[in-house]
Amino acid sequence: MGEKMKIAVAPAIQVGGSLFTPEQLSRIGFLAGPDAQIEMTSFKQLYVEVETGRLDEVKEELRKVGLEVYPAGFATKSLIACHFCRGAEDAGLEAAKKLNRAIAGIETPTPLKVGYAGCGLGTSEPLLKDIGVVKTRDTFNIYIGGEPKGLKASVATLFLEGVSEEQLAPVVSKLIAYYKENAKGKEKFKKFMERVTIEQLKAIVA
Ligand code: SF4
Repeated sequence: MGEKMKIAVAPAIQVGGSLFTPEQLSRIGFLAGPDAQIEMTSFKQLYVEVETGRLDEVKEELRKVGLEVYPAGFATKSLIACHFCRGAEDAGLEAAKKLNRAIAGIETPTPLKVGYAGCGLGTSEPLLKDIGVVKTRDTFNIYIGGEPKGLKASVATLFLEGVSEEQLAPVVSKLIAYYKENAKGKEKFKKFMERVTIEQLKAIVA
């Protein structure tokens, strides 16, 4: 048996949340093979072990059934979104999809989580993510520096209010790019934010 590596597999961002179809799940099992490890992560991606030599073929087959495939490990996770229970329009499904396309799978100094909630109830816990987006009536608020782990767990700080749909993906992309370029080694996003300061980050994305 050849060398194996992990890939991250997720369903599309959609109304209803992280829904897999039976076809998608059976395809994952078939392509991974009987001995593969398949792990359910806490960030709504499945980590699937694949033989390195079959990587491209497996990715292509998974995409054919509507699944999204990203790198595992030190990268931005696919958007951790809510269930859009208020409906696609009210909860901002298109904006969330656009944001996911812009940020998912970017190589980063430490694994980075971006959350999205379609309203202030925030049932996807966006304030516990490195970057959290919450839709208000017609615009979006962005929070940064949420930390759910450890004894110093804390909620994210309000970073920007009233961001338009057009500006949302570019602003979050700039934040991630700046973190990627300026983090010290494997500096976590929250520590980076505290060192660089929120004011400086605001100037970067302006
Ligand atoms: S965050 Fe709001 S829109 Fe999204 S699932 Fe929760 S209650 Fe519904």
